Amino acid sequence: MILARTRAEVREWVAAQRREGQRTALVPTMGSLHEGHLSLVGIGAACGPVCLSIFVNPLQFGPNEDFSRYPRDLEGDLELARSAGVSLVFAPSVEEMYPGGEPWVSIVPDRGADVLCGRSRPGHFRGVLTVVAKLLNICTPDVAVFGRKDYQQLTLIRRMVSDLDMAINVVAGPIVREPDGLAMSSRNRYLSASDRQSALALVRALDRCERLFEGGERDPELFRQLLGNSVDPGVSVEYGEVMDPETLESTSRVAQGTLCAIAARVGATRLIDNHLLGSGSPLASI
Ligand code: AMP
Repeated sequence: MILARTRAEVREWVAAQRREGQRTALVPTMGSLHEGHLSLVGIGAACGPVCLSIFVNPLQFGPNEDFSRYPRDLEGDLELARSAGVSLVFAPSVEEMYPGGEPWVSIVPDRGADVLCGRSRPGHFRGVLTVVAKLLNICTPDVAVFGRKDYQQLTLIRRMVSDLDMAINVVAGPIVREPDGLAMSSRNRYLSASDRQSALALVRALDRCERLFEGGERDPELFRQLLGNSVDPGVSVEYGEVMDPETLESTSRVAQGTLCAIAARVGATRLIDNHLLGSGSPLASI
């Protein structure tokens, strides 16, 4: 496995893969790798050699967010990446990615970014789309793999690739969960033992929504109430939304495939999770 620190090294590697007739896959991450990230590597490997990027992107963090204390563990990440069969890890510095400082030109979504996480994180998706576009331009992969865990991010990336005619196949991976159902996240490391228990309120709320749906309920207000009213006093729900999974617009009628999305503070940690109704209990896949 190669560790590349510069864009030039990645371009050289990609050119060498092309010369050998290989298709390549990109898995962008912010590191602190877990099974969720590694599942995306597995999906990418079906296409060809996998480039995994590790970059904590300052452009997508707000001034009061956790950029400086975001967990970083390059040594551990390299071990996990190697064991997952990654061919190249791209771990650039901030200076390597933004040599001129804050970019003059960035990618600003016109729709879909003022709801869900975008509401409380202004500028977040501009940062995400800009860094993803840069990574796609640097790595020029045939396939780029993203997790459904970050559903709004996945939707906006799909739209960017389609609206800007990028010749890349975006593939989505399912949400990987801990044995008790908590969606895996690098931020789970912030949780104290009691926060860790409280954090289960998110997946339990999504599971209750699925059971409500399977029982025949179709009124979105009841689903919103279920998501919005956490039963755990340690959990403060930021949003509990029921949306069209394509347009991310609030829906007036729940149907197969409707998106239930939740964000909550558990202690000082902000967690997100989601579920597509009618796809079985989110606790069943464990
Ligand atoms: P992050 O390092 O949090 O920016 O995530 C990098 C990629 O991994 C994104 O495409 C995420 O959606 C995906 N990801 C994060 N957590 C999970 C999970 N629990 N299951 C599946 N994919 C995930």
